[in-house]
Formats: sequence, structure tokens, C-alpha cells
Amino acid sequence: MMKGHSSGRVVVISGPSGVGKTTLVRRLFERCRVPLVRSISVTTRPPRGDEADGVDYHFLTPQQFESLRDDGGFLECFEVFGRGYWYGTPWSEVQTALQSGKCVVLNIDVHGAAAVMEEYDDAITVFVRTESIDELRRRLELRGTDPPAEIDKRLERAEYELSMAHRYRYQVVNDDLDRAVDELCTFLTKQWEIDNND
Ligand code: ADP
Ligand code: 5GP
Repeated sequence: MMKGHSSGRVVVISGPSGVGKTTLVRRLFERCRVPLVRSISVTTRPPRGDEADGVDYHFLTPQQFESLRDDGGFLECFEVFGRGYWYGTPWSEVQTALQSGKCVVLNIDVHGAAAVMEEYDDAITVFVRTESIDELRRRLELRGTDPPAEIDKRLERAEYELSMAHRYRYQVVNDDLDRAVDELCTFLTKQWEIDNND
């Protein structure tokens, strides 16, 4: 590494829908002193609530998505809930961040994570969970963004995702948000200090 140039890593955050990944990542950015940038995924799912294009996701039509995929534009992409909606991480999001010496945070599902781990074997991988499935249901209901049938689908999927948790380097229980953010920040800071000889 050239002196004066920092070196970032890919940071993969997975966990069942509703566990609090988006909330956790937002807080992490506010609080953690490691230089972080969020990878903005591409999706064919329609925007929810106040989600904005280019901020929460890049919202594309299925045709636009397919064309980007055919051009080799994705580091990974999957149809996450088997409902016909696709999600993917563009190479550009990751490469730009790493070139600028930052850690790039990917909030992606377990299949996407497995593909990223193949490509970046030094990725920092974090699986986020709640203390119970009941708590997960409560959060999805409270969030109020998904109809009941969708919530059932997400909970079914959660059981499967939990069975993949052992593949991740770190496990974070998001019961107390502040503590969970601190834990995550501590892992990242320690690694950053080792990598950059701070
Ligand atoms: P995900 O991105 O994993 O789908 P969200 O970040 O959207 O999850 O969080 C789902 C819901 O749970 C939101 O309403 C959020 O405010 C709430 N939430 C997040 N973290 C916690 C926590 N530690 N305790 C209680 N509720 C939480
Ligand atoms: P949501 O529709 O709730 O925003 O996201 C649903 C799921 O898709 C979450 O588990 C989220 O982590 C995952 N996801 C979001 N972006 C990507 C991506 O680029 N690739 C993959 N594989 N999964 C993603």
C-alpha cells in the first residue's frame, strides 16, 4: 500500500427482512469513524413509502435490469423473494468505493453475500438477527410497509436465511440498537486499524 493511501474492504450485511439492517447501517454511518460508503443496489421492485431513486435503490425496469446484467454490470444479482423482483450490486458501486480507499457496505441477501464472498475472500461479513421470529414479525408489522401476505413470505424466508448465518464472520443481535451499532462499529474500526496501520 502506498503511504498516505487508505485501504478499504467490502462489508457485507445480511439478515432477515425487518431485522433492522437499514436502520443499523444508517446509524453506523452517523457514528463510525471508519470511512464508509454505501453500495446502492439496483432493483426491479417498485419504491416503497418515501424511498427515492438513486438514494435507497436505483429503481430500474425489468428490461433495464436485464440489459445491465447482460453487459456484465453486476457483481451479483438475484431474484430475492421469488416474486419476480430482482436485486443486484453493480460492480461500479464497489469498485469506485474501493479505489477511493473506503469500506463499501452492501446490505444484501444470503445468496448475494455468498457470491460476494467468492469474489472478495477478505470481505467483512456480518449477519444481523433479532432475538426471536416473533420480534421480527412485530417489526415488519410496525414498519407498515408490507401487506400481511408479504410479511408471511418474508418470515418464511427468514427461517432459511437464519440457516445460513454460520457462514458469516460476525453475528449481531439487533435488540438494543445503540449496542448493535457500537458492536458493528467496533469490528470495522479494529479491522480498519489493522489494514491501515493506524
Ligand atoms: P431491514 O432493513 O432489515 O428490512 P429496517 O431497518 O427497515 O429493517 O427495520 C424494520 C423495522 O424495525 C423498522 O420499523 C425499524 O424502525 C425497526 N427497528 C430497527 N432496529 C430496531 C431495534 N433495535 N429495536 C426495535 N425496532 C427496531
Ligand atoms: P427490500 O425489498 O426489503 O428492500 O429488500 C429485500 C431483500 O433484498 C433484503 O434482504 C436485502 O438485503 C436484499 N437486497 C437488497 N439489495 C440487494 C442486492 O443488491 N443484492 C442482493 N442479492 N440482495 C439485495
